[in-house]
Amino acid sequence: MGPPGVGKGTQSQRLSGEYGIPIVATGDMFRKIRQDVSPLAREVQEYMDRGEYVPDDLTIEMALSRLNEPDTKKGFILDGFPRTVRQAEALDDALAQDDRHIDHVVLLTAPNEMVLERLAGRWVCSTCGRVYNESSNPPRLPGVCDVCGGKLVQRADETPEVQRHRLEVYEHQTAPLITYYQGTKRLEVLDATKSVDEVTNELRALLNGVVKERA
Ligand code: ADP
Ligand code: AMP
Repeated sequence: MGPPGVGKGTQSQRLSGEYGIPIVATGDMFRKIRQDVSPLAREVQEYMDRGEYVPDDLTIEMALSRLNEPDTKKGFILDGFPRTVRQAEALDDALAQDDRHIDHVVLLTAPNEMVLERLAGRWVCSTCGRVYNESSNPPRLPGVCDVCGGKLVQRADETPEVQRHRLEVYEHQTAPLITYYQGTKRLEVLDATKSVDEVTNELRALLNGVVKERA
């Protein structure tokens, strides 16, 4: 969890490779859907371009059906889901029915000015979705993805006004989720103002603790 631009996608991508588990990123799933030509695609596009959340029913159905796919059975990293208390409750219920549960919820924190600055410099691979930053996390060759050689682009939902609105939406709709997870004692708070490598190291330490506990 954490505000847009704090580094959720960046850290998920690093850990997914290390732990050999998939990332379920609802933002990426919606970005695929919006490319279709259909009433659903248009609806999703309108919410995203306004910086609003896509309605819970649609989001929950999409995320839970992805979590039924076999590659998630040995574990998964959720990025950007759940974002509302209703989504979190639906997730807990669905996983419990399947005898699964969320081990850890990590909240990445950084001040608003910092996340806005990070978003302004964000570039994403148009082929594989790898995230870069023109100053803090640049690709080896400008405009080219290190991983797959794809072209780097900036996201369509990225104007400064929309970014600021997305932060407000986060504070209104997602911040209450912090209390939900604190109540279930699953929340870890990490200071994400540190470098990408430092945040990865802290996440790794936290997750290795979990893996040892379960062994
Ligand atoms: P989110 O998924 O939370 O929206 P991203 O992972 O897309 O955030 O990161 C937003 C931008 O910030 C990207 O350009 C990324 O390269 C950069 N970034 C991520 N983590 C850090 C960090 N710890 N320090 C500096 N820049 C970062
Ligand atoms: P992200 O890439 O995670 O920043 O998400 C981009 C956009 O997709 C958000 O601004 C929302 O419009 C939509 N979205 C992603 N995840 C969710 C979610 N869990 N609930 C509602 N909308 C979402």
